[in-house]
Amino acid sequence: MQVTYACPHCERTVSVGAVDGHSAVVCPACAAGIDPPADAMSGDRLERCLICPSRDLFVRKDFPQRLGVAIVVVGFVLSIVAYYFYWIATSFGILFATALIDVLLYLGVGNVLMCYRCGAQYRGLPRLDEYGAFELETHERYRQQAARLADRRPTAP
Ligand SMILES: [Zn+2]
Ligand SMILES: [Zn+2]
Repeated sequence: MQVTYACPHCERTVSVGAVDGHSAVVCPACAAGIDPPADAMSGDRLERCLICPSRDLFVRKDFPQRLGVAIVVVGFVLSIVAYYFYWIATSFGILFATALIDVLLYLGVGNVLMCYRCGAQYRGLPRLDEYGAFELETHERYRQQAARLADRRPTAP
């Protein structure tokens, strides 16, 4: 599988390929290694995040959000140009076409497994549809936990 995570050592977001869930994940930027928890894998199923190592993982569509937004923006600009020239049908046609491209893109992309706690992303795992989808409750629990930790940190004078 491939892991994308924010390295706790150098704080860069990095991707590491060919991760087996048993040996250490080594940051390609600073070479800091993270040892996965011993019970991270059960067979070929990932049970715990290799990075943080939380048990709460959820699956979501691996949708390239920036590309999706870019398509909508380009479609919007083109349709305004068409509208300006009184090509009304073309203007609406462009809007529908861009919406359709986004839907097809959404349906075409694969799944990615994410960690609630640290945001690590896992790709290339089998049977991703067996994991639960995103739950706001769990997300909120981790968000509040992170906020409390941030509060406790001593502030610089
Ligand atoms: Zn690093
Ligand atoms: Zn994690």
